[in-house]
Amino acid sequence: MIEKERMTEHVMDIIRIDSLSKKEKDVAIKLQRDMEELGAECFYDDAGEKVDGNVGNLIVKLEGNKPSAPPFFLSAHMDTVGPGEGIKPKIEDGIMKSDGTTILGSDDKSGIAVIVETIRAIKENGIPHGDIEIAFTICEEIGLLGSKYIDMSHFRAKQGIVLDSSTPDRLVLRCPSADRMDFVVHGLEAHAGLCPENGLSAIQITSEAIANMTLGRIDDLTTANIGVISGGRATNIIPNRVKVVGEARSHDEETLKAQVNHMRSCFHDAVSKYEVTLHDDLSAEGTTHVAKLEEFIERSYDRMDVDIESRPVILVDTAVKNLGYEIKHHTSGGGCDANYFNKFGIECANLGTGMYDLHTVNEYLILEEFFRSAEIMLETIKLNTMIPS
Ligand SMILES: [Zn+2]
Repeated sequence: MIEKERMTEHVMDIIRIDSLSKKEKDVAIKLQRDMEELGAECFYDDAGEKVDGNVGNLIVKLEGNKPSAPPFFLSAHMDTVGPGEGIKPKIEDGIMKSDGTTILGSDDKSGIAVIVETIRAIKENGIPHGDIEIAFTICEEIGLLGSKYIDMSHFRAKQGIVLDSSTPDRLVLRCPSADRMDFVVHGLEAHAGLCPENGLSAIQITSEAIANMTLGRIDDLTTANIGVISGGRATNIIPNRVKVVGEARSHDEETLKAQVNHMRSCFHDAVSKYEVTLHDDLSAEGTTHVAKLEEFIERSYDRMDVDIESRPVILVDTAVKNLGYEIKHHTSGGGCDANYFNKFGIECANLGTGMYDLHTVNEYLILEEFFRSAEIMLETIKLNTMIPS
C-alpha cells in the first residue's frame, strides 16, 4: 500500500524546494496543493507573523469516514538548517545523500513525506479512518518557534505522532527541558601597549568564568554548552565587552536549575574579582571601575515525558508488532515540536524516519527505514479506528 517509488520522488521534490527557517512558503504551497488534491482542507495560522517568517504553520484537516475513531494528530516541520539552498539529492545503494555541499534536508522533509504518503495510501485504498489533523510547522530549527506559537484552537485531537527523529527502531518518549543563557561581560577599554593597567579585559574575565565551569555531559539526564563567544576589536585594545551564549538541558528540572545557577555563579564570581582605580581626575582616591555582568536566562522549551501506557505509544507499539518489526522506547537529548504539543495538550511521541548525521553536509536517509516509518504510520492510523479509546 505504501508506494515506495512515489514516496521517494515526493521527498526528493520537496527537498529540492529551499525552506530555511522563516522562508518555508514555497514548500508550504507545494504541500497545500498535494493535500488539497487528496481532499483535505488546508489553511495557515498566524505563527508566521509572530516570528517574522514568510508563512505560518500549514494546518491540514482530513475528515474521517469513521466517526467513532478519535481524531489523530500528525506533524513534521517544513524548515531546514543551512547550508540548505539548491540541495541536489541523489540515491546510491538505498541511501539518499546531498552532493556534499549542502545538508540533505531529510530533517524533516522525510517526516513530511511519510505523512503525505500515509494519507495517499489511506485515500487510494479506501481505508477507514477518523479525522486526521496535521501540522506542517515552521521554524522548528530555530527554537521550536512554529509549535511554540501554533494556534491550538484548530485542533480537536488529543493524541498523535511527530515524525522528526532518527530511526524507526526507536520511539522517542522523553525530551529534555532547555534554558538559553546570554551573558554580557563589561570590562574597561584601555590601550594595550601604553596603559594596560588602566583596563579590565572582558575576554580575560570571561575566560576565567568559563574555565571554572562544568560543561558537556553533566549527568545521564543533563548537558550544558557554551556555544558562541564574541567580543574584542583589536590586539592593541583591552576589550571592554564580550557576549557569551550558552544552554543547558535536562530531563530533571532541579538539576537544570542547579546547572544554570552554576554557570551564572561562574560569571558572577569572575566578574566580582575585577576592578581598577584610575587617578586621571586628580583626586586623591581616584575613580574605581568595576567589571559588570548582564545576564538573560530564558526557557527555550519544557521537557516532555510521554507515558508508555498512553494511546499513541500503544498504537505505534502494536503497529510495529503487527508488521513484524521491533521498536524501543527512547530518551532523547534534543527538543522537538512534540515538546510543545505535549505541553499544549496533544499527547504525542516522536517516531524516526531513517535520517542520520543531521545538521551536517553528510546527512543521509536510509530508504528502507523511511518506507518502514510510513508503513508504521499507516498501520497506526488503521489501529486508531480499531482500538477503543
Ligand atoms: Zn528536525
